[in-house]
Amino acid sequence: MKLKRLITGMLETNGYIVYDEHTLEALVIDPGDEPQIFIEYMEKNSLKVQGIVLTHYHYDHIGAVEDIKMKYNCPVYIHKKDAHGLHRPEINYSMGGFRKPVSIIPGRTLSHGDCVQAGSMILEVIHTPGHTPGSICLKVKDANIIFTGDTIFDDDLGRTDLEGGSTEEMRKSIVNKISKWSDDITIYPGHGDHATMAYVRKKNMEFLCML
Ligand SMILES: [Zn+2]
Ligand SMILES: [Zn+2]
Repeated sequence: MKLKRLITGMLETNGYIVYDEHTLEALVIDPGDEPQIFIEYMEKNSLKVQGIVLTHYHYDHIGAVEDIKMKYNCPVYIHKKDAHGLHRPEINYSMGGFRKPVSIIPGRTLSHGDCVQAGSMILEVIHTPGHTPGSICLKVKDANIIFTGDTIFDDDLGRTDLEGGSTEEMRKSIVNKISKWSDDITIYPGHGDHATMAYVRKKNMEFLCML
């Protein structure tokens, strides 16, 4: 599997293109803004886009979805509990005057344990509510890689004070799921740098203890 990070938008959101380097089948994770940057990379590498997978509905993760979807005629995936927010600009915060409201109906909604596949590459859905009700992390099968969206960063946790956020749900996600991830797993978050869980445990301890 190959992985490319593309940083776009005012909040410098990490979008990721992951693909099977043999078949060139690809998935796009959280294309936040500036669709041409994603499309350029995919065209340059002759990638066959199989779908767009969203870790949650916030505007800074979905701004380029519409254009990429139109270009490649591919489905959009989001957790079933975040589908309403993807559809409603007042929930995904794309209502502000300086940006275009985003309203998308996903092709398929996801639940915990579901898989999204492109070529030999399989992403497994881990439901980690807290930042939003349907926030998910995506584990690459047979690799120590997990995309975490805005649930957990290298040195911080995602906010729980936005629409649909819940500190109690975040606490449960950390205790029941994230804390079980082994030290050699590398997280690729929605903002900032990737990090091993060993690093996250050390740097994030005070935040984890607050929960
Ligand atoms: Zn967010
Ligand atoms: Zn974000």
